[in-house]
Amino acid sequence: MDPMPCFHCATVFTPRNRKQYYCSRPECQRARKAAWQRMKMKTDPDYRAAKKLGQQKWACNHPGYWKAYRRNNPEKVERNRMLQTIRNRCRKNAGKNLIAKLDARKRTDFQPVGQFWLVPMIAKLDAAKVNIYTIPGTWQ
Ligand SMILES: [Zn+2]
Repeated sequence: MDPMPCFHCATVFTPRNRKQYYCSRPECQRARKAAWQRMKMKTDPDYRAAKKLGQQKWACNHPGYWKAYRRNNPEKVERNRMLQTIRNRCRKNAGKNLIAKLDARKRTDFQPVGQFWLVPMIAKLDAAKVNIYTIPGTWQ
């Protein structure tokens, strides 16, 4: 087989067969499995139902786990709230143009200063926390 770039890390590797798109690095194999699970969750209702049932059983056997997790990881709680807000907005705006904004913002009082989550809308990447500061006009 000819060498090809890995779908996850873009490192050039020699695949063992025609169906191998990811190199053998552990993080790339995790990405491959996660992509497979996402595809399976979207396309296989039996898999989705079995997964949901398994999660419900696990939650019954581990009462209080998620409450403790949220208490111990407040940054994850904040991130999840932000992402859920975005998902809700996407559902609300389903069918409307979400990628290209046709009417550009013209408000002059818009001051995006503070801490925000930068969430990719097209690519499935993790959100990144960013800080936005104002730069004084005198800064060079
Ligand atoms: Zn790779």
